[in-house]
Amino acid sequence: MRPDPETGVAEAPMRKAKSFVSVVLLVGGLAGGVGRTQVGRGPVVDLSYPFSAETVFWPTEERGFVLENVHRGYTERGYYYTANRFCTAEHGGTHVDAPIHFSEGRWTVDAIPLDRLIGPGVVVDVSDRAAADRDYRVRVEDFLRWEKRHGRIPTGAIVLIRTGFGRYWPDRIRYLGTDRRGPEAVAELHFPGLHPEAARWLVERRRIRAVGIDTASIDYGPSTQFESHVVLAEHNVPVFENVANLDRLPARGFTVVALPMKIEGGSGGPLRIVALLGR
Ligand SMILES: [Zn+2]
Repeated sequence: MRPDPETGVAEAPMRKAKSFVSVVLLVGGLAGGVGRTQVGRGPVVDLSYPFSAETVFWPTEERGFVLENVHRGYTERGYYYTANRFCTAEHGGTHVDAPIHFSEGRWTVDAIPLDRLIGPGVVVDVSDRAAADRDYRVRVEDFLRWEKRHGRIPTGAIVLIRTGFGRYWPDRIRYLGTDRRGPEAVAELHFPGLHPEAARWLVERRRIRAVGIDTASIDYGPSTQFESHVVLAEHNVPVFENVANLDRLPARGFTVVALPMKIEGGSGGPLRIVALLGR
């Protein structure tokens, strides 16, 4: 608000008029959907799963997420007090892969600039293909098909890949392809991912900011060389894995905010990721 130059007092009627204008823009932005979202404010969608004993981790992690209660209840001094401690691998549940995870000398999780974690989001839905083939790898053609309908993927986009496997969470057999644990179970993993050629296309031809997926890994389950991880890490592109609720997002027209735990020197970490619709 602007104060009156003589009295120094802000004018209330002016403020009312301004908030009326934002309401109109909000409705216009939501109703208009694609591409008209610069001012409007819509709902916030939570794209993170809670961390619990059910949280899905890579089969090599024997323990998963461990929450240990330190105190719960009234203290001798009369006040209520609850506190826990937790133990977790960096790469489990909804988390980020920092570029250092697969490329020497690249950013650790605390070093990823904030502007690489906040940006315009798009959802590329390949759930039909993944339903027909649980080892499906997303191709360049899938992105080109998306662009025909929704326009070019914007430079600096955060590309979220929806395979539909989120509906299986946290059933390990359906989500990962196996509920066995230990190194030998890795060979039994079957879930969709991003083809390395498509990963290269996204970083070199569309210059994306970050990429996320609703499976346990950006490389598909049977991968042994993790080539998509390597391509993305070499280009300093953060990867979000086990992203939730992608079925609640439009194809575009929202902002992703993805803030991981700031572990100094970490190769990744637990991630709170949300989508701000209508902006
Ligand atoms: Zn990871």
